[in-house]
Amino acid sequence: MAKPKETPMMKQYNEIKAQYPDAFLFYRLGDFYELFNDDAVLGSQLLELTLTQRNKNSAEPIPMAGVPHHAAQNYIDILVDKGYKVAVVEQMENPAEAEGMVRREVVQLVTPGTRMRNTADAAKENNYLVSLSMTPVGGFGLAYADLSTGEVKATSVSATNGVLNEISRLETKEIVTNAELPDELMANLTSLGILVSKQEEGPANAETSYLTQQLEVPEQKEAADILLAYLFTTQKRSLDHLQMATPYEIAQYLKLDRNSRANLELTVNLRTQQRSGTLLWLLDNTKTAMGGRALKQWLEQPLLDRETIEARYDKIGELLKDFFSRAALQETLKSVYDLERLAGRVAYGTANGRDLLQLRNSLRQVPDIMVTLGDLDPAVFGDLLRRMDPVSDIEILISKAIAEEPPISVTDGGVIRSGYNSRLDEYRDVMKGGKKWLAELEAKEREATGISTLKIGFNKVFGYYIEVTKANIGKLDPDRYTRKQTLANAERFITPELKEREQIILEAETKSSDLEYQLFTEVRDQIKDNIARIQKLAATLAELDVLQSLATVAEQYKFTRPTLVDSQKLVIKDGRHPVVEKVLGHQSYVANDVYMDEDETIMLITGPNMSGKSTYMRQLALTVVMAQIGSYVPASEAELPIFDQIFTRIGAADDLISGNSTFMVEMAEANTALQNATKRSLILFDELGRGTATYDGMALAQAIIEYVHNNTKAKTLFSTHYHELTALSDELDHLRNVHVGATEENGELVFSHKVLTGPADQSYGINVAKLAGLPDSLIARASDILASLEAQDVTISETLVQPQPVSAKLAELPVTPTPEPVVEEDTQLDLFALEPAVDPALQAILDEIK
Ligand code: ADP
Repeated sequence: MAKPKETPMMKQYNEIKAQYPDAFLFYRLGDFYELFNDDAVLGSQLLELTLTQRNKNSAEPIPMAGVPHHAAQNYIDILVDKGYKVAVVEQMENPAEAEGMVRREVVQLVTPGTRMRNTADAAKENNYLVSLSMTPVGGFGLAYADLSTGEVKATSVSATNGVLNEISRLETKEIVTNAELPDELMANLTSLGILVSKQEEGPANAETSYLTQQLEVPEQKEAADILLAYLFTTQKRSLDHLQMATPYEIAQYLKLDRNSRANLELTVNLRTQQRSGTLLWLLDNTKTAMGGRALKQWLEQPLLDRETIEARYDKIGELLKDFFSRAALQETLKSVYDLERLAGRVAYGTANGRDLLQLRNSLRQVPDIMVTLGDLDPAVFGDLLRRMDPVSDIEILISKAIAEEPPISVTDGGVIRSGYNSRLDEYRDVMKGGKKWLAELEAKEREATGISTLKIGFNKVFGYYIEVTKANIGKLDPDRYTRKQTLANAERFITPELKEREQIILEAETKSSDLEYQLFTEVRDQIKDNIARIQKLAATLAELDVLQSLATVAEQYKFTRPTLVDSQKLVIKDGRHPVVEKVLGHQSYVANDVYMDEDETIMLITGPNMSGKSTYMRQLALTVVMAQIGSYVPASEAELPIFDQIFTRIGAADDLISGNSTFMVEMAEANTALQNATKRSLILFDELGRGTATYDGMALAQAIIEYVHNNTKAKTLFSTHYHELTALSDELDHLRNVHVGATEENGELVFSHKVLTGPADQSYGINVAKLAGLPDSLIARASDILASLEAQDVTISETLVQPQPVSAKLAELPVTPTPEPVVEEDTQLDLFALEPAVDPALQAILDEIK
């Protein structure tokens, strides 16, 4: 089909758009950015803009929507938040001076993984862009960068699952790759809402070879090259603040899979998806944005190396000893701005005078910090102190060069301090002298003409003028005063004397602001040459900030220094779940011990619902995570091995996105644990087997316990409502029963939340149902049924009737898989038409009872 005639502008637009088919094109047109065609239609919906048309009266009008240029950032943010890319097209020449079409170019491609935000809530978060390369044998190179801080890292990952774990740790929103990723991975990325962008490696140049020189593994280097190529093509500017890519190994850190991270609510609250109520929220008393981000990174990567962990305990201990030093550090850190991001803005060329002053003011704090650290034990803080370079040359440079209250703009003058450059001072003298001269002239003219209301003023169109009211015009000598402008009741004139002086003043003003801009960029470039030093300082300050935060929290919540042991023995006295304790208050929280001997594998936890089983299990996992980030722990005493991995199957964090049934997720998570756990791992299984029919569930639970007990041998906490399983302690030497206490008082259930040895004697399901407010008549009916079943010598589990004795009965049972009906989101299910799913074996018992 023949295209309708394109205007030159639409031709230019279409040419640019063709290069960025997957991005919204924000096309600069005067004071607006315009969207056209499909971009305009979709953009007007997403951004709630009015959809108009260009060339309304032509045969094919073009859909159009626009945003004012000063508000563009908001609109760009909204689109990028929704996972889109935005290509910003600017006018590259002054339209007034352009011959023909104004030249326009894409100056930046903003994408979810490369977006930099300056808002306060974004300060404590990193935004990581991840790149993936693939090896011939199906492994991956994975690199990531935070464009705002310049951090770049790379590693190798052997399987899809490992990639997903890293990606979830990094909370990335965008991945770039040069490869066809495996379908399974793609499906997961899509369901997680992660944008996948294509990018080839890009030609090697001096900059990329410099940045990747520490990477030796081919797939890591390839991933980093892809990452850098993408950053350069999207940002189209200097990225001098990018740090040299450093390799890391996933095995250096405590392994926590995606589900466990989520389940344990380390950094994200499961229910609200916010930070509040998480371990991070509890531990975060950092005073700087860099410290806030570093703490989050620590939490996402607990350590395995004992020496490094203990060095952190030592520092916390030292800070705890010296309250005044700690208070002094906090005070000074409060005045330190986000050095990493300031360095980024310097490299980007977007830093203005105020940014440089923030940098200067931050650097000014460093000597004080060093003095404070000097008061602490050099055996503990010496290394950190030695690493601290105050970068005082830059502090001095900024102090000398930049004015105390610079304007936001760097081109309008007023940025450079007087005394820094003699030429600039001269211009300023002329300007200032000019003003004085004008005031004198005004006085002189008033006297000479006898017009007391005569004024000298300035406007952009006419320059300097002498203004006289109409009534007084007759007093002027018409030869000397040339009329320039007529107002309603005044006239404006110039004189040759005034014209000449005007020339001098205006020239000085332009020269002065040009020179200021030049001086400012020189200063900025000089800082740019020192960015690596500033970044190093930022990292050291961030570390110090995290340590003071952990010390402060340790004191506030009475945490204790753990002892790391080489054996697999686990002793915690008066352990608490730090977040629940904070919410409930120290007084209301019942502390509990954990004791697992060297060869003890399984702790089987029974007790009614709501008694605190799950809290007890989480409390142990959080204690382990805290210990391995180098933090003190919520207990009065703790002896812990260093765990290599934590696996959890807790609660109802079902994988709703992928549409798997609860039970399927349970089994998949159990499988991950059983396949990967070692003797040095920690496994938490909360009510495993609950998602299927009772016999199935109990049989699987027992088999899993036996498997862990005999094969995996990981330290395992297993909570269950299958009381029958407690009998397993007779056969399994390394299994121990504990239960959470509850008593019945006047028909009401009272929880002690105390973990006691031995199995629970009762299930209390009906009491909990009563607690939940089910109708009295229903509760009474349930009690009757229970009584009659008990009279038949049959115990009740929380959901269904069970025969006794368990072990024997279980062994006899044929394995009858009864798959859960998977309820698809879109399928209409007539629930009443479904047959009640009754286990055949159970039916037999029920028949027997009748
Ligand atoms: P379960 O897993 O046995 O159903 P939870 O661990 O979910 O029980 O705990 C239920 C509630 O009991 C928690 O929300 C918490 O408020 C309270 N709780 C749990 N453990 C304790 C404790 N040690 N001290 C005080 N309250 C607790």
